[in-house]
Amino acid sequence: MKKGWLVMALLGVLFFLWRQWPDQQLHLIVCNVGQGDAILITQGFNQVLVDGGPDQRVLNCLQDHLPFWDRRLELVVLTHPEADHLTGLISVINHYQVANLAINDFGKQTPVFRRLAAAINNHKIRHFQPRRGMKIRLGLMDFDVVWPDNLALQERQAFLANKPRWFGFPVIQDRDFNANDYSITLWLHFGRFTALLTGDLSRERSLPLVWRREIPPAQVLKVPHHGSRDDNPPALYQAVRPKIALISVGPNHFGQPSPQLLTFLHRQGIAVWRTDRHGAIEFISNGQGRLELRNRN
Ligand SMILES: [Zn+2]
Repeated sequence: MKKGWLVMALLGVLFFLWRQWPDQQLHLIVCNVGQGDAILITQGFNQVLVDGGPDQRVLNCLQDHLPFWDRRLELVVLTHPEADHLTGLISVINHYQVANLAINDFGKQTPVFRRLAAAINNHKIRHFQPRRGMKIRLGLMDFDVVWPDNLALQERQAFLANKPRWFGFPVIQDRDFNANDYSITLWLHFGRFTALLTGDLSRERSLPLVWRREIPPAQVLKVPHHGSRDDNPPALYQAVRPKIALISVGPNHFGQPSPQLLTFLHRQGIAVWRTDRHGAIEFISNGQGRLELRNRN
């Protein structure tokens, strides 16, 4: 009798492990964090988190999608130092081991950025400034850095020279320049699956990339800047030619996503998935053209 219970318990544990064990497909999850961005990409045992959203909700998303024993993120990206992208990363750094952090070499003079910079410093997190031309390979996933490029980074240096520094990061104020201009933009590819992750990239920066034909096509576009009207020019969509537009957005006073953009996407036949309507959105790709979609409210 006792033996029977033991076998049952063992089977239970095995089933639990089997349920948590990652498959070999690519999972792209737009976490439901309200007004902000937090995007988790996993493939096998490799995990990448792009932005952390405006609060701790990102931790629920990580808990839902990482095996319980895995407390390490291979790569975390902060696209730009605004609160709706960075706040959750403070909790992430405190609860997970962050192996590498891709971050711009500047911050903003805000209490929340100071806390992030302190956390990076306290945990001695290895960090680097991504620049166009860099390729980051993790397992079977590839990330190409599309933006910022060297020229933009050189120009920025001049603005940062005389700024105060917090834990090594020069910090700016709103009037200095638009932090969105330096949103780290990544082109993700996994076999035939492609996605462009844009943070809050401004039109001032995306349009020149389009004109220079430096924007790669992608099946999935993480819509820039929560669907703001200004930062989503039609030319960008003509260059990327996405089949799916992902909008990470919550209640806000900015009119995001803009009705004009939604009408445009509808007319173009681009499928729209948005976190405020659909909750967390998960794409699963086998890299060979099959794309499965799950969403959880
Ligand atoms: Zn934002």
